[in-house]
Amino acid sequence: SWFGAIFFEGMIFAMCSTLLMVLLYRERDTARFAHEATSDPLTGIANRRAFLESAQRLLLRCQKEGAPCSLIMFDLDRFKVINDTQGHPFGDEVLRSFSDTVRTLIRPNDFFGRYGGEEFAVVLPNAAVETAFVIAERVRHAFAEANRFTPDGVPLNATVSGGVAEAASEASIHEVIQAADRALYRAKDFGRNQIDRGDDPDDRRRSNVIRVA
Ligand code: GH3
Ligand code: MG
Ligand code: MG
Repeated sequence: SWFGAIFFEGMIFAMCSTLLMVLLYRERDTARFAHEATSDPLTGIANRRAFLESAQRLLLRCQKEGAPCSLIMFDLDRFKVINDTQGHPFGDEVLRSFSDTVRTLIRPNDFFGRYGGEEFAVVLPNAAVETAFVIAERVRHAFAEANRFTPDGVPLNATVSGGVAEAASEASIHEVIQAADRALYRAKDFGRNQIDRGDDPDDRRRSNVIRVA
């Protein structure tokens, strides 16, 4: 009968709609889980795992093409003191400020991640160590400039140290990170608020330290 036909079509329609809705929701959840697994909730940038994955892929591509590839490790200076004097939520704001600073200064093909609590890393495909050094210096200056005072006008003078390394033709991503880390520790040892290239100790071209009043 016509009633039966309409009822039957209505049932089919309802079932298809429901199935479509379920699939769409599942797709959205999958995308959200993937995002949560790869991004750092505080800054929205890649987390350590996602950074390592992308950095390795970018490094391998450079090595295949015979192009240089460099890496910068940043670590905020005396960050514990900032937390202790200004409070943890304010410390979080400083971390966001740092990640915004880096985002605006790196090139479109550079990849940026939060490596640890107040440690950040950038991989720069097709960049020799000199280029990475210049970019790291820009970040250091801009971050210090943006964080001389708290929004209430209290002197803050937040600074960052960095280590730069260029990948050798056969180096693994872990070896490059290790080299940048060694340079970073030298920058800390030499007084912080500076970038260390960590290659030739006689030609480090360490920048002059800018003292912020
Ligand atoms: P240095 O110049 O030698 O790097 O000194 P530092 O104080 O920065 O180093 P230390 O490793 O002693 O302290 C790092 C601090 O960063 C301690 C930790 O509580 C803080 N930290 C890590 N993750 C977060 C975060 O997500 N938010 C805030 N507010 N603080 C964090
Ligand atoms: Mg640290
Ligand atoms: Mg630190």
